[in-house]
Amino acid sequence: EAPKEQPTNNPDHWLNHFTKHVPANQIYNFSQRIKNIPHLIKLTIGEPDVPTPGHIKKAAIQAIEHNHSHYTNAKGILPLRQNAAKYLKNKYGLNYDPKTQIIVTTGVTEGLQATFGAILEAGDEVAIPTPTFPVYTTDVLQQHAKPVYINTADNHFILSAHKLDTVLKSHPQIKVLVLNYPNNPVGNTYSSSQLEALARVIKKHHILCICDEIYSELTYEHPHVLLGTILPNQTIILNGVSKAFAMTGWRIGLVCGPAVLIKGINNIHVNNIVSATECAQYAANEAFKHGYHDGPRMRDIYRKRQIILRRGLLQAGFTCPKPTGAFYIFAKIPKYFHQTSVQFAYRLAKQAHVGVIPGSIFGPGGEGYLRISYANTSLKDIRVAIQRIQDFMKTNVYE
Ligand code: PLP
Repeated sequence: EAPKEQPTNNPDHWLNHFTKHVPANQIYNFSQRIKNIPHLIKLTIGEPDVPTPGHIKKAAIQAIEHNHSHYTNAKGILPLRQNAAKYLKNKYGLNYDPKTQIIVTTGVTEGLQATFGAILEAGDEVAIPTPTFPVYTTDVLQQHAKPVYINTADNHFILSAHKLDTVLKSHPQIKVLVLNYPNNPVGNTYSSSQLEALARVIKKHHILCICDEIYSELTYEHPHVLLGTILPNQTIILNGVSKAFAMTGWRIGLVCGPAVLIKGINNIHVNNIVSATECAQYAANEAFKHGYHDGPRMRDIYRKRQIILRRGLLQAGFTCPKPTGAFYIFAKIPKYFHQTSVQFAYRLAKQAHVGVIPGSIFGPGGEGYLRISYANTSLKDIRVAIQRIQDFMKTNVYE
């Protein structure tokens, strides 16, 4: 008989296996590790530095003054769902019934957790193209399901229909594919022909696709195109106000999809959080009602930063394809640096006082790259950062 575990006074004893063994947010951890380095220019965080537009703030103030400080319908206030549905239709051609096919969540983050919670059984597998936003892995593991990573580095970080088909054939347990486009961390997006090819495979294998489209307003080459318009019955879309309207702190997201799935997701959501914050819902309502130009205005700000940052990185010796979406550059470290991306990023922070995120944090295919964000840094600071990076590259060239 195995000896019984001795009771201990250490409260750690009570934590479950998941909490003890699954890494917490590694982007956050690395940012914390370098944050006290003096005069650091942070190209680390994926959070807009632009303030929330004034008309949205006013709507929130009014909502507070009118005492909108209560629980709401778990799905969210109806005007918000109606205006969000109109926005998604006008901008992207989606057709969702606001009463049955859209719920309001506490950001995409909570929406993802509720979605995976409603769909996955223990032992299910989830296909995740990598490099990837790390939160999907945590959500999948929380459901005792298993991530199956598909490395896309050999195809310009695009999941090809052929590769998906091959993986699905050899992994019959895969129930869901997660697609994030425009993409964090690689800063690219999918074209309609790429999505159509994927849709054929998704349909053939009868799997569900969860599309995280939080960066849908931030595309630089062509307007955002959606799998949800091609394959509405097998697609769940998550979107929100964090990036398009610079509202990360308001914590409002949307989950949209087939009514039966949305009902199940809402059941998890209501038990988790009851409802999203009421006055923030009024702010998001204003964003979707009158904010059609806010996203494009911010995109123009980011585009200017991107052009200057990328030019500087290319001059410094990095390889970086032109970003087509989101606000990240995924830069390849020149081969003559024989260091891991964590070592490189840490030295860049220590010696050059520029903070970036190591690519390896984003899973298979990320090693050898850096995620460099232009969401939160002024043009002036970007120029200083470029100079520092270029000096660093010259002095460290043979290491
Ligand atoms: N999805 C992706 C791909 C992200 O990069 C982020 C934030 O960085 C989120 C979701 C979080 O969205 P929200 O603020 O709506 O929770």
